[in-house]
Amino acid sequence: MSTPSDSAGGRVLRTLHGDLELPVFLPDATRGVVRGLDADDLRACGIGALVVNAFHLQSHPGMNTLRALDGLHAFMHWPAPIMTDSGGFQVLSLLAGSSKRGSITKKGVRLRLRDGGDCRLLTPEKCIRHQFMAGADVLVCLDYCTHPAAPHEEQRRSVDFTVLWAAACRQEFDRLVEATGRRPLVFAVVQGGNDASLRRECAERLLEIGFDGYGFGGWPVADGGRLVDMVQFVAELIPQEHPRWGLGIGKPGNLVRAAQCGYSVFDCTIPTRDARHRRLYVFRTPPESAAAQPDEFCDTVYMQDDRHRRDARPVDESCDCPCCRNYSRAYLHHLFQVWDPLALRLATMHNLRFYARLMGALR
Ligand SMILES: [Zn+2]
Repeated sequence: MSTPSDSAGGRVLRTLHGDLELPVFLPDATRGVVRGLDADDLRACGIGALVVNAFHLQSHPGMNTLRALDGLHAFMHWPAPIMTDSGGFQVLSLLAGSSKRGSITKKGVRLRLRDGGDCRLLTPEKCIRHQFMAGADVLVCLDYCTHPAAPHEEQRRSVDFTVLWAAACRQEFDRLVEATGRRPLVFAVVQGGNDASLRRECAERLLEIGFDGYGFGGWPVADGGRLVDMVQFVAELIPQEHPRWGLGIGKPGNLVRAAQCGYSVFDCTIPTRDARHRRLYVFRTPPESAAAQPDEFCDTVYMQDDRHRRDARPVDESCDCPCCRNYSRAYLHHLFQVWDPLALRLATMHNLRFYARLMGALR
């Protein structure tokens, strides 16, 4: 199988909707939208690709609707690469709340989205079919995400099911490629919790099946916010020619550390969620200094602080985003005070531009 990235160090991810220079940060357009922003806004921030959650899209607008409307790219008016997340993490969150919500078996995940609602079976084949029908450029296999504190038997089961499902996903993927002549990329996710031997086994068995890229599954961050040791361990298990995806790694300092471990594809809700919570990222030192001082190069600014009320400076004087180019901290503070939707749009654009500039510097 050919690899999706340049053989010389894997610095480019080649997709059906264009090449992505690595490392790259993909904002979460979970339900088909980065809240409050349209495609032009995203481009103005230097965003080159998005992650959409296939699991949520099944509920709304529904896969048949998406197909009838010529797929995700046309629907979202987004001409660049789209990665679809299979939803393993969401499934874990739903099941963690209550066993009445469903169960996990060899066949896949049986889920009840609402109390008393119908049970739906999400099989690995269906999961890949949905992402393929949606027209995604990078598909992700269904995986069984566990909590790091889960007992050994559950971590064991998670690796066995993740590999079993990945094999089924790969088979279904190959069948769809053959039937349509369309060849997107397909990634698998390495599970195994904090158990090194399980992580190694999972990576080896997935590599044997063969995927374009590999993700770090489970919880990448320990209490206190530092990356867990497994993040580096898993990166070292994956040969360099394959892009490594650091699922859910999102604090700026952790992105730098993960990129130094070899991860090159990132997605996280942190910049967009923090923007909605009025928390904005600013560079303390030039972006180029991030690699040398991952704990020092940035700061957060809380826009609700009263000290911004008369501050005529932009959020970040070094930033070229539409918010910093055109508006003061005082105006953004005011927009948040009167709770105008423009505050969310400008703040989100600023944070995404910060992440795009950080990625640019790491490249
Ligand atoms: Zn800015």
